[in-house]
Amino acid sequence: MSTVLTHEAQEQLNHIRHSRDVVHAHSPAIQKLFNLVIDYVDDAERAGKNGTKVIWAGVPWAMPLIYSTGAIPVAFSEMGRISGRDAITVSEDHYQMPAETCSMVKATAGEWYLRKQAGTSITRIFGSSSACEPYNLAWEVMRKEGFDVYTSDIVYRAPGVEGERYEELVRYFIEEIHEFNEWLTGSREIDRDSLHREIVRKNRMMRSMREIMDLRLQHPFHVKSLGIMYLMNGLTHYFGKPEEYQEVLDALVGELQGLDINEEERSQAIPLIWTGGNGQEFGIYDAIDNAGGSLLGFVSSPYAKDYREEIDPVESLVRFQLESQMAGASIYRRDVIERQVDRIGARGLILYGYLGCSFGSVTREMYREYFHNKGIPSINLEGTFQVGAASGQILTRIKAFIEMLS
Ligand code: SF4
Repeated sequence: MSTVLTHEAQEQLNHIRHSRDVVHAHSPAIQKLFNLVIDYVDDAERAGKNGTKVIWAGVPWAMPLIYSTGAIPVAFSEMGRISGRDAITVSEDHYQMPAETCSMVKATAGEWYLRKQAGTSITRIFGSSSACEPYNLAWEVMRKEGFDVYTSDIVYRAPGVEGERYEELVRYFIEEIHEFNEWLTGSREIDRDSLHREIVRKNRMMRSMREIMDLRLQHPFHVKSLGIMYLMNGLTHYFGKPEEYQEVLDALVGELQGLDINEEERSQAIPLIWTGGNGQEFGIYDAIDNAGGSLLGFVSSPYAKDYREEIDPVESLVRFQLESQMAGASIYRRDVIERQVDRIGARGLILYGYLGCSFGSVTREMYREYFHNKGIPSINLEGTFQVGAASGQILTRIKAFIEMLS
């Protein structure tokens, strides 16, 4: 099937095309990136139809493992870009989800329903249990719809878990991975050579990303906010095309290295850090660009250090996750934000979350207070997971926030 876009989703697709053809007309690398974005889900649907194993995957740590089996993951985050009001209506009216339910849960559940009706080839879903209660409800609903849903336990490393307690957690996580592999492939045995190759590949991507983020300190406006957001998203799932995603990274490194330093550009940019998921109200990114902001720091995809290549690849996957900001407690992300504040000389934080997510709002308030006490101002934004126009109020707040920092 090809995705049939709602009016709002079509508008946002036009926004991406505009960013590709006009805003980033100077950057073939970002143009290629946006082509990967646009084709991701439909190409995955086609691959599924032609016999490739394709799954919906909402678990970032698993991506190298999924690729190592020859399967293609389609990240939940992409559901937001293609789903609109229709998906929300399905969840609220057909599934009777309360209106205040998180928009991510409503958008994904509604979109899966609509795609099932339209004959999707992707009927397997991999999510995590105990991530949040609304999603647990969605898993049950999707099972009843006939999807093959698998959820793995969140392996949460609390602050202070070290020594033998930590090693116990590592062993538990390894067992989880074998169980997931069995669901995905029919066997608990993991192809370690293939997984090792995926880890080496991911390390190369992260090195490229580090280089890009360093070069962007000299050229903060070469890649605008929507472009860098999607580049960062791709680091998790590669848009189903790892080689092409690496080509984008290589090409962008080349572009940035070839630019002359422009002191005026550097001095005009207001360095910002984006925390939280990506918003699908693309007007937010334009508002940041227009006000002179530059997103130079991110915390959602770890890229600061490599996977260990000298140890067993399954263990490497586990230790990378448990020693990154994705390990569980908010304090790990806070530490990454703090390091990035120093690295890029951030003048402000954009704390972004989805409407209806109580977990996220508590975390954002903790970050706000912590960084406020350190003299770093922040703006707390809530938006929808599905596409839509940003409200005038949000755009005004962003503009006022960045102007205050200038
Ligand atoms: S945004 Fe919050 S409520 Fe929504 S799915 Fe994620 S954790 Fe759950």
